[in-house]
This record gives sequence, structure tokens and C-alpha cells, in this order.
Amino acid sequence: MIKLIVPNRGEIAVRIARACRELGIASVLGYAEGDDIRFTQRFFDDAVSLGNSYLDVNRVIDAARACGADALHPGYGFLSERAELAAACEDAGIVFVGPKATSIAAMGSKAQSRHLMQKLGVPVVPGYDGDEQSMDALLREGESVGFPLLVKASAGGGGKGMKIVRASNELRAAIESAQREAMKAFGDDRLLLERYIEEPRHVEFQIFGDAHGNIVHLFERDCSLQRRHQKVVEETPAPRYSDELRQRMAKAAIAAAAGVDYRNAGTVEFIVTPDNDFYFLEMNTRLQVEHPITELVTDVDLVRAQLAVASGQPLPWKQSDLQQRGHAIEVRVYAEDPDDRFLPQSGTIAYYSEPSGPGVRVDAGVTRGSEIGLRFDPMLAKLICFAETRDACIDRIARALREYTILGTKTNVSWLRRVVTHPAFREGLVSTRFFEEHGDSLQPQASEAAPLIAAAIASAPRAIATGAQRRVSDVWNTVGAWGR
Ligand code: ADP
Repeated sequence: MIKLIVPNRGEIAVRIARACRELGIASVLGYAEGDDIRFTQRFFDDAVSLGNSYLDVNRVIDAARACGADALHPGYGFLSERAELAAACEDAGIVFVGPKATSIAAMGSKAQSRHLMQKLGVPVVPGYDGDEQSMDALLREGESVGFPLLVKASAGGGGKGMKIVRASNELRAAIESAQREAMKAFGDDRLLLERYIEEPRHVEFQIFGDAHGNIVHLFERDCSLQRRHQKVVEETPAPRYSDELRQRMAKAAIAAAAGVDYRNAGTVEFIVTPDNDFYFLEMNTRLQVEHPITELVTDVDLVRAQLAVASGQPLPWKQSDLQQRGHAIEVRVYAEDPDDRFLPQSGTIAYYSEPSGPGVRVDAGVTRGSEIGLRFDPMLAKLICFAETRDACIDRIARALREYTILGTKTNVSWLRRVVTHPAFREGLVSTRFFEEHGDSLQPQASEAAPLIAAAIASAPRAIATGAQRRVSDVWNTVGAWGR
């Protein structure tokens, strides 16, 4: 591998470029016109336009060819789980840093991957995943699954096309609306119906395979703290679970990956009931946003391993080499307004100061001066902390969030601090309903903000002296609603 292109943006592009630098691989950023790449680009040797979006497979392949890249890392999101891109790379003689196109395709549809898991003896949520998709059939099957049930888009992702149905008389409308949403988002309106599990936890396993028949797991991540089915806080190990349960899940995860001859990094997601029954949800055939917590507790570099395995080398570790020690937590820092329905925010970052110190890692895609638009996902950065114990890790991430200062756009930083210091989180009482249950107690307390903002402004004379002045003072004026 000599030159690698990354058709992606933000923190994940930076993460991959850093691994390339360490390995002496030349890196090229593939970017969409209009995206602010001034920060990201610094980590790359070169940059090439992909036109108006990150989603055009032909443009990506043309760009790879034009810059002489012999490898491509898709990152996450965008084209990362499109079998078509992996296949196009295979055809063009470009190393795709990820699984084979056939493995991506096998896991691409929720219905199809459920069938496969059932064959492999991996438990799936009881439900209907058949081909018969007429309204009559779906209504009939829904009745037999029972209520509450979850209507899901088979092609789904990001929680789109998902509806909870509590009673029989709501079913038809939910099916119609899920079909519409699924057609709009994925161009495919096939649905599946699953029993809706109350107060579940989302626990996923990092797995890794190579081209020599080896597959290992790198333990679990608990991603139960979600808003609208989107992860907000992730941690490992999963709190309050026995080793025995985690080992059974790890075994199922490896069986799932082996069943599609999986190569490179992937994630097998499970949903776990309050009685500790677990079911396969889906497999993500790419690197995940939350991969750093795994890196911190296992002391490995997953991207480096991805590049090695994609070049045909065997996995750098055997299962017995991998140990899980200490505790890691990640929070996702967004440009959004927790006080106004978490609406995405835009603006220019007028002041930016990251936390540091022992056990603190920040994977950021922005810095001071970055323009935050509404065109792309509003995630600015990830803050990841490591400590010997879960308690110490919570103390540390709360401390780091206190140090994190971003001015010029509203962010969820202070809200995240209230989340990680919430007594229920401290107790490890996590479930996907956490925010529904505790949303009210996560509201800000008056008077928390002023000292921090004042300190940030005092230490940012240059930001104030330049064009940022107006924005910073806007922020100051609205401080009551701002930096809590
Ligand atoms: P997507 O591909 O859209 O992300 P998933 O199937 O991975 O959809 O599910 C996303 C989230 O939705 C899960 O993490 C969980 O919180 C919730 N979920 C999914 N299936 C169920 C279910 N059967 N019962 C309860 N919650 C579910």
C-alpha cells in the first residue's frame, strides 16, 4: 500500500490520515465541494474534489485513479457500507480497506441477515422477515408477532423507517408511514416486524477477520445511551454484565462474522433484554464511530490493523493476546441545541480549546475558525476517556467536559456533562430509554455557565480581536441560554 484515498470528512478522515502518516503511506483526502476542509486537509498529503457529494461511487473511483491511489478507506457513513463501492474497487485493482463486497451485501438487508443468523444459530428478535410484503400479509404477521412491535425498514439504517406500534389499530398507519419513509430514504420499502423489547440495552462486539481464516473479537461496547436511536455515549466494558454473558455474546458475534467470511474490522450489534436474553440486530461492515473506546481498553490501533489486513497480512493478534483492561467512555460532541429539541446548529467556531491530561483523547474534525454548516452530520468531535475503573472514568470524562470550550456555535458539551454525572449513569443503570426516563433531570441548573465562559473569553483575546468578536459577544449576551 503506497497511497490511500479517504472519501470522507471530519474526525474520521483525520483518524485515518494519522494512521497513514505513522505507516509512511501517502494519504489523499477526497472531499465534497463546499465542505470546509481547512482543518482536515492538514493531516493529508493531498486533497482531491469528489464533486458535490461524498456519495458518487464513480466520482470516487475516478478520483482514486486520477491521484494514483492504490487503496481506499471509506471511513464510516456515506459509501462505507455500499457493496457497490467495494466491488468497484475490486474491479479497478484498488485495495478496499474493509470486507469483501459479498460480505457487505450479505449484511446489507436486515431481513436477509436475519435469515443468515438463524441458519448459523445466532438468536434474532422474534418477528416476521418474510418476502410476502402485501398489506394483508404484514397486518396478519404483525398480529401474530404481538404488541408492542417494531416496524423496521429492511434496508434501514440510522433509525429511519422505524415505528413502535403499541396496539393493533395503529398497525396499518405505521406500516404505511414506514414504507413511505423507507422508500424515500433507501429506495426500498420492504419491512420487517419485530417484537419491541422494552428497556433494552444495545451491546455490540468489535470483531476482526483476515484473509487467512482468522477471526477474533475485541470485546463489547455498550451503546445503550441513544437519542432517537442514535448513539450518544458509549462505554466498555458493559456495566453490570457477567463475564459468562459477555462470553456467550462474543461467541455469537464470531459465529455471525465467520458466517459471511468476514475480513477486516466489523461490528456485530445485539439488543439485550432486562432478563439478559440477547438477539442479533445487525452487523456493521465498517469501522464504527465508537471504535476508540475499544482501542483504549485493548491497547490496539484498529486502523493500523485495518491497513495491515487489507494489504493481505494476517491479523496482528491472536484471541489470547487480547485483554480488556480498565474502562473507557466516549461522548459525541455535536453542534446542536439541547435546549431546543437538539436542533443542529451552524456557525463559525470562534474559540476552541480541547481538554487534555491523563487518560484523555479527543478525535476532532474541527478547530478554531471552522465553518459548521447544516449540510452534513453535526458531530464536531469525540471525547474519549480511559481510567482504571468505571467510577474513575466517569470522574475523568466529567472533568474533561468541563475543560472543553467551544464558542461560536451551540454545542451539547454541558448537556453531556450532566448525562455522565447523572446518578443513574453512575449506577450503570443504562438502557435505550435513558433519555426518556431522565430527560427532565438533565435540564440545566441556572448559574452553571458564567465563570467558564468568562474564563474562555478572557483567554481568547485574539479570537475577540479578529472577526470573531461579534459572535463571541453574541454568545456572551445570550449566556443564560448558552454554555451550560
Ligand atoms: P438502524 O440500522 O436504523 O440503526 P437497528 O436495527 O440497528 O437500526 O436499531 C437501532 C436501535 O433501535 C437499537 O440500538 C435499539 O435502540 C432500537 N431497536 C432496534 N430493534 C429493537 C427492538 N426489537 N426492540 C426495541 N428496540 C429496538
